[in-house]
Amino acid sequence: MISFQQVEKHYGDFHVLKGIDLQVQQGEVVVVVGPSGSGKSTLLRCINRLETITSGELTVNERKFSDRKTDINKLRRDIGMVFQHFNLYPHKKVIDNITLAPMKVLGLPKKEAEETAMYYLEKVGIQDKAGSYPSQLSGGQQQRVAIARGLAMKPKIMLFDEPTSALDPEMVGEVLDVMKALAHEGMTMVVVTHEMGFAREVADRVVFMDKGQIVEESPPEEFFVNPKEERARLFLNRVL
Ligand code: ADP
Ligand code: MG
Repeated sequence: MISFQQVEKHYGDFHVLKGIDLQVQQGEVVVVVGPSGSGKSTLLRCINRLETITSGELTVNERKFSDRKTDINKLRRDIGMVFQHFNLYPHKKVIDNITLAPMKVLGLPKKEAEETAMYYLEKVGIQDKAGSYPSQLSGGQQQRVAIARGLAMKPKIMLFDEPTSALDPEMVGEVLDVMKALAHEGMTMVVVTHEMGFAREVADRVVFMDKGQIVEESPPEEFFVNPKEERARLFLNRVL
């Protein structure tokens, strides 16, 4: 579903991604961990082309970065992204936040878009908030709206960039539970998170990044019990 082959990226003189090789199969959950500034967000953002790459090849859902015929808008339709800050439209009701893209981008009629929105709101457990404004919701509820909004586009891949980092501790669990359910349904997911419990429980693979490189890539039972690399060991000592 996603394939990085020797991907390099620079921001001006700064070499942010170095020789990235990473494959994500359909239905896999890959959790990316690593210190702040190691390039995790940049890696995610390359997948849906919020960033360009300098060299190498990145293929997403059989669309190649290097192929100038690749339609970026079509590619993005297949990818949902959830950010640390929920990025909901504050002046739109929850339901209208969710129906916007399906109506505008997929051309769904309003009624159908609303039915889809309600289906996903129910899935994330907040169908009773459909008529509320984002500011009337808790952080955990807003993040669940953001997830429902992503799902309403029926994506093939979901990307999560520290989806619980801005939440009060008591709200982290409700968001992780929604993500766990999604993983169990077979969604292909790449998740950047500091929630090591989630990584341990849900990840098929853990990718550890440091200074723009993938330093280690292992199943969670290996990564957390017996990391191969010294840098991973030091990181785990700090966060666990
Ligand atoms: P992480 O998500 O692991 O914290 P990022 O991918 O956000 O790391 O950033 C990696 C490095 O790239 C950081 O040193 C950051 O300052 C730098 N960086 C990120 N975005 C930009 C940008 N748009 N221009 C220049 N440097 C950037
Ligand atoms: Mg980041």
